[in-house]
Amino acid sequence: MEQHARVAIIGSGPAGYTAAIYAARAMLNPILIEGSQGGGQLSTTTDVENFPGFADVIQGPWLMEQMKAQALHVGARLVNDEITAVEIGERPFRLHGVQGAYSADAVIICTGAQAKWLGLPDETEYRGFGVSSCATCDGFFYRDQTVLMVGGGNTAVEEALYMTNIAAKVILAHRRDSLRADKVLQARLFANPKVEILWNTALVGIEGDPVAKSVRAARLADVGTGETRRLAVDGIFVTIGHTPATNLFAGKLDLSPTGYIRTQAGTTRTSVPGVFAAGDVMDERYRQAVTAAGTGCMAALDAEQWLMESAA
Ligand code: NDP
Repeated sequence: MEQHARVAIIGSGPAGYTAAIYAARAMLNPILIEGSQGGGQLSTTTDVENFPGFADVIQGPWLMEQMKAQALHVGARLVNDEITAVEIGERPFRLHGVQGAYSADAVIICTGAQAKWLGLPDETEYRGFGVSSCATCDGFFYRDQTVLMVGGGNTAVEEALYMTNIAAKVILAHRRDSLRADKVLQARLFANPKVEILWNTALVGIEGDPVAKSVRAARLADVGTGETRRLAVDGIFVTIGHTPATNLFAGKLDLSPTGYIRTQAGTTRTSVPGVFAAGDVMDERYRQAVTAAGTGCMAALDAEQWLMESAA
């Protein structure tokens, strides 16, 4: 049987749970559909030191459990289901999941984004233990150490510049002989004495200590000759971009050329009235737990106002 809610929220990262907390407290009786990876990207990270409010280091999965408990505590309905199709052409909106169907007067999309990985087996083994996709999240653990960044876009260069404030040495390996990043960022990178750039270089392996669970070295290959070599590093950041989870909305909502949901400036309103987007699925730039939570709050407030104005 179809379940109806004033507001349906898709996705259970910081944006989704925060939207649920605000919508529940606004008496909108929200239903939150958690998706396949409950807790979003934070559920697969380890230490979190930059979410305000905690003087001690906390764990990503624990933080998400707290947000979930808080959403339940204020009355949000949580459903463990994966949405596979959406009908947002007319109201009420309809969401079709593996377990059931849902209808809603307003929808908040918080389906997030996934960091792209190279697909190396060791990348998975050492993820969170020397291998990361986010310098803003994990860079602090490499103070005065040597780190390797992989990639040549804005993300790689921004994250490399961020690491120059922390690490002793920042080596950027890029598979081609020129960067894709904005020229101004490139100039800053080239001018930084802590930075070394390895052109035409691919990361092909990671050497670590499986007992201590730490990274010792990167195995690099010259893209032209195929020759490989070992480079001692303490941490590796794979910064080759993100993929927003927007397949469900292609052709139904305005998306950016890189696939992110477009929202009206300063709001979470999408191109379809009554459909809102929050968190990494609409934020190509900041991608932090706290900014996702912030836009989740905005989406619930935007939905509340829209429901009131449109008397939907
Ligand atoms: P991009 O797609 O722009 O760049 C990805 C980089 O990773 C490219 O250099 C690419 O190499 C490299 N890469 C991709 N796959 C592989 C692979 N398998 N092996 C090795 N290297 C690989 O992604 P970004 O995340 O950097 O940026 C995404 C968008 O977000 C862009 O539009 C960017 O401008 C924007 N952005 C803007 C920021 C800002 O304005 N401050 C900050 C961050 C992002 P190659 O060049 O050879 O394709």
